[in-house]
Amino acid sequence: MPPDGSTAIMGRSQTATEDSRIPHSHPDDTMDSEPAIPSTPTSESDFEKGDTSASQSSPQLSRVEAKMQSQPEKLLKSSADSTMTQRKVASSPQDEKKEGEVDIMDIPATVDIVWRNVFLFVYLHVFSAYGLYLLFTGQVLWQTVIWTALIHTCGALGITAGAHRYWAHKSYKAKLPLKLLLVFMQTVSFQNSIHEWSRDHRVHHKYSETNADPHNAKRGFFFAHMGWLMCRKHPAVKEKGKQIDMSDLEAEPLIMFQKKYYTPLVLMTSFVMPTFVAWFFLGEKFLTAWCFASQLRYCFNLHCTWLVNSAAHLWGDHPYDKAINPAENKGVAIFAFGEGWHNYHHVFPWDYKTAELGRYRYNFTAAFIDFFAWIGWAYDLKTVSDKMVRDRVRRTGDGSWRHEKESATLTEVTDSLASSMGMSHGGPWGWGDESIPLADSQMTQNLYPLID
Ligand SMILES: [Zn+2]
Ligand SMILES: [Zn+2]
Repeated sequence: MPPDGSTAIMGRSQTATEDSRIPHSHPDDTMDSEPAIPSTPTSESDFEKGDTSASQSSPQLSRVEAKMQSQPEKLLKSSADSTMTQRKVASSPQDEKKEGEVDIMDIPATVDIVWRNVFLFVYLHVFSAYGLYLLFTGQVLWQTVIWTALIHTCGALGITAGAHRYWAHKSYKAKLPLKLLLVFMQTVSFQNSIHEWSRDHRVHHKYSETNADPHNAKRGFFFAHMGWLMCRKHPAVKEKGKQIDMSDLEAEPLIMFQKKYYTPLVLMTSFVMPTFVAWFFLGEKFLTAWCFASQLRYCFNLHCTWLVNSAAHLWGDHPYDKAINPAENKGVAIFAFGEGWHNYHHVFPWDYKTAELGRYRYNFTAAFIDFFAWIGWAYDLKTVSDKMVRDRVRRTGDGSWRHEKESATLTEVTDSLASSMGMSHGGPWGWGDESIPLADSQMTQNLYPLID
């Protein structure tokens, strides 16, 4: 049962490495280990660098920040040059191949189904459907509905504000209390550990719409949405995943603790806690609590996240860069707490808002981060300047930018030039990636800097 009928089955042989890509032993875990969300393509060993003794902060991050301060003249280089450099960085030096050697990126994509995950997804959806039936037939207590909505919000923000904007993209900094809260919330979502989630997401940004993208949207809606979790990864996903710098996360004991004890932690927070509270404290029937607060809540959370990988990579405008697939999709923004402004996000992945349009407009996650910045738990919120946005719109946008007239008069770049300056695929994974154009780094604003 190919998840994506458009993809040819090449009969690639299965290796021991591929078999072991599901790192966790709990049955439900397998779903995530082929992560539930935008992540987990491979086994730990596939990506592990073995460098868990990295220094306090990522050397790469330090290098970039030092460069920003010590080489102002370089920052004056045009964004065009920088963008071209970025493209070069994205495809070298590891990507250079010797004569006669087949580039791993060119190996045809195959569909090699992982049946265990297929069965687990079927199980999840059957129980979720029953939970939905119970809701529509008035068999769920209103207290359970409120409790489930709370847990859903908690898990969703754990992904959007935690794994995504904080750890994967480093778009802001957080103090320990907020980190602890975000780790808890991210565990509730059961979308794989923060370390795995972030690694896969960085690969996704750097190699979007190529064979190294875990949920390559060019393989169709179903593959990008959930099909990729039901078949073995393309070898390029593993290969490029190994090259992603994860030293910053590996230097965080909290992240490595969550990774080490992920299975018991996720069982307690994502399944036992939601069910037990509804059953024991709210007086809900046990089966109803299980199907509604646990299974349906989890299933809904997964689909909301998956929409970012599928719908927001296929449908919508491209006001910032028409050469890439990610698009502005309001529907996805609503379901995914502000993650649907995906064209902007792939162009400026280090912006904590992941969007330009008003901080809170269909962007609950930005409001959440701003709240914690207001009470002092979040700081150094990165965002890009209006000028930077307009420059980019002018150079590579599709003309759909919100200020249509201004956009039209400012458009001086020809289509061919615009596309040549756009990202052929992917881009920087976030703040700290050396492929961020220096000019862009310089113009990035730091909101709520740390005072003391
Ligand atoms: Zn994306
Ligand atoms: Zn992202």
